[in-house]
Amino acid sequence: MGKTWKKIDDAVRIGPGDKAILKDRDTVGADLFPDRKEAEDSLADDAKAINALQDKLWAERTRALLVVLQGIDTSGKDGTVRHVFGECGPLGVAVTPFGVPNAEELAHDYLWRVHMAAPKKGMLGVFNRSHYEDVLVVKVKGLAPAAAIEQRYEQINDFERMLADNGTTILKFMLHISKDEQKQRLQERLDKREHNWKFNPNDLDDRKLWRDYEKAYEAMLERCSTKRAPWRVIPADKKWRRSAIVASIVRGTLEEMDPQYPKPDWKPSDFKIE
Ligand code: AMP
Ligand code: MG
Repeated sequence: MGKTWKKIDDAVRIGPGDKAILKDRDTVGADLFPDRKEAEDSLADDAKAINALQDKLWAERTRALLVVLQGIDTSGKDGTVRHVFGECGPLGVAVTPFGVPNAEELAHDYLWRVHMAAPKKGMLGVFNRSHYEDVLVVKVKGLAPAAAIEQRYEQINDFERMLADNGTTILKFMLHISKDEQKQRLQERLDKREHNWKFNPNDLDDRKLWRDYEKAYEAMLERCSTKRAPWRVIPADKKWRRSAIVASIVRGTLEEMDPQYPKPDWKPSDFKIE
């Protein structure tokens, strides 16, 4: 996508102090990538570029990129991983899904498992759900005391600042779909045999809590969009457009990081291979 990614980024980025009223934010995003063919070409090009940049990041091994994906059920987190990082070799990309914490994880503070999964230098880490579940599902379902949850926004900001200060660039994407679109996607999971496995009756309970989730997401977006790690709200009703937008921002960010192959302290001509 090259030079125009900044314009796309400006349209979706939540700055520090910005309001994030989700019902006023478009879930279609037609003006960002009006043309499907163009979006698909852009995605294909960006996915290849992301792989090439990732190779340099790994060779350089001094910094990391962390991509955080959040969004309600069916918002397309898995598909985004497949499309945006599908060209990357498996060696340099680590995808971590965060589900219901197990007993060991619950016995620690909520950031423990998250810190363990943070990408090491040279890696591109992707979180499929994240520490933000601890101010989303946990808040909506009342899984922790309200006062404890209230402290987490600042704790998360502190945690992310610490990661950033230690060489990790953080990109946070919330995939934003409409309630109608979710209905269609859930219905598809019932209708298509090969999609049945994705259907979880609990998703219907969460759907009933749509407004509560919306409010929790808004609090997260407003309170955890820092200068170093702002949120991006991605219009995600169209899968091809969603992936094209995310890929353009990931590529643009990697280009700004500008990783370099390390210079060897020898010349190829110093050696002769017999
Ligand atoms: P899925 O992404 O469909 O595999 O589902 C993962 C489930 O784990 C979702 O229902 C999340 O809400 C849930 N989950 C993730 N993190 C937490 C957490 N910290 N506490 C409780 N539930 C969580
Ligand atoms: Mg699910």
